[in-house]
Amino acid sequence: MLVTSRESDTVSVPETNGARYGLTVLAVALTLPVAIALDRQGIPTAFALMLLTTMFAVWRFGIGPGLLAAVLAIFCIRFFFLEPRHTIDPRLLADEGLRRFLLYSESILLLWLLGSAQRRAQEKLKRSERFLTDAQMLSRTGSVSFVAPEGDVFWSAETCRIFGFGSETSPTVQRMLDRIHPDDIAKARRVFYAPSEPSDAIELEHRIITPSGCTKHLRIYGTAVRHHDGRIRVLAAMMDVSESKRMSESLRKAQAELAHTARLTTMGELVASISHEVNQPLSAMKLSAQAGLRWLDRESPDLERVGASLNRVVENARRAEDLISKLRNMARKGEVAATPLDLNKIAGDVVELLHGEAAERGIACLTDLEPNLPAVKGDEVQLQQVVVNFMMNAFDAMAAVTGEDRQITIRSRRRAASVELEVTDGGPGIEAGMQDRLFDAFFTTKSHGMGMGLSICRSIVEAHDGKIEAFNNEYRGATFRISLPQMSVGN
Ligand code: ADP
Repeated sequence: MLVTSRESDTVSVPETNGARYGLTVLAVALTLPVAIALDRQGIPTAFALMLLTTMFAVWRFGIGPGLLAAVLAIFCIRFFFLEPRHTIDPRLLADEGLRRFLLYSESILLLWLLGSAQRRAQEKLKRSERFLTDAQMLSRTGSVSFVAPEGDVFWSAETCRIFGFGSETSPTVQRMLDRIHPDDIAKARRVFYAPSEPSDAIELEHRIITPSGCTKHLRIYGTAVRHHDGRIRVLAAMMDVSESKRMSESLRKAQAELAHTARLTTMGELVASISHEVNQPLSAMKLSAQAGLRWLDRESPDLERVGASLNRVVENARRAEDLISKLRNMARKGEVAATPLDLNKIAGDVVELLHGEAAERGIACLTDLEPNLPAVKGDEVQLQQVVVNFMMNAFDAMAAVTGEDRQITIRSRRRAASVELEVTDGGPGIEAGMQDRLFDAFFTTKSHGMGMGLSICRSIVEAHDGKIEAFNNEYRGATFRISLPQMSVGN
């Protein structure tokens, strides 16, 4: 659209050859009576007027009509203005004046040829510039090139627009640096705006703050080449990825919220059913104990009945115990899909999933994943649940930690016959004396905790024939680890 509207700005030229040659003949025919009239008045302008008409024909209709105009002009001058008049004897065409006219016409034609070639080249250049500008605008990608650190800068119109500069602002590296988010400036300077070393593939993301106060996310792909004078020239494409960033951020948030809700719902349902089931034996125990107390409270206590009541208490306590272990077995024996799994992928997925939650709490999630891990066999969703639980607990544990220690690391390692995945935090660590109870159902030290997370994790890991363990780190914080058997070939 844009290109078309600009093309219509150029002067329109008659489309068909017939029209162009016809108009040329008409122009010469119109010039002739004017020249004759002036000649009769004693003003000899025939040469000048015919030259002008020829120039007009060349400029307006092109080289062919221009040639026709020159030939017609020569004959008109010979026939109407040179002595002896009204004859077109070819020998009389060798007149000095006519020869000069011919020379002028040839020069004009030559000039026109050169001019039109240049015009065509310029138009082509302009068209490709416009195409580039439009393409850059549509893809929100600008380009920039500069000699680091400060010299010879070129930026495209789109780069100018992305940074929020006016089109008349002259480009400098400093101007771009001034717009970069303070938290990103050190990295941006080191990697892209003032690199000390050449690089084939620069990849960088940083934020900028525009004069209107809005934050944009830029993704940069570029190269830095060292010149023979030792200076480094940087060339790059810059993409405004704010929109896609915002969308993936809200998607991640929604996923994390979903995971959180799913976790709470599962827990809530589990707690409700456990409370319901366990409530009956507990009430029975209470009733039996009260009855026992009443038999004891007599002047002569009926020890036989007391014994019977206590037996019922024990019996109901056993029922409650049975119920709890049945529930645990249910979780343990739950269908475990036996697909080959890559624990690194599970770790990556969970980090991705909890990215928004971590960012909100200001916690950095680092990964230290051993490449080419052997596969393990299991249920991806269940194992993801285990890692989500470790991570959420680690986030909670870091609530009171400030500064550089606000980071957790998720690490994977290959062992002789197993694969390990662990989450290490920099929190206060496991409370003294609580080590053995961490994986018990309903054990929690949090005011709003349910104490079911690690117990479910243990059930899942044991159902995968794996091991789950927790220990305090040497320096600070805790590590929660699972080890799962490597999937042997043909397994
Ligand atoms: P909840 O999170 O509801 O308390 P969990 O079973 O997930 O239930 O955790 C049980 C307990 O284990 C927690 O209350 C806490 O005391 C301890 N715990 C879990 N993870 C950590 C950790 N990373 N650092 C210190 N203690 C932890």
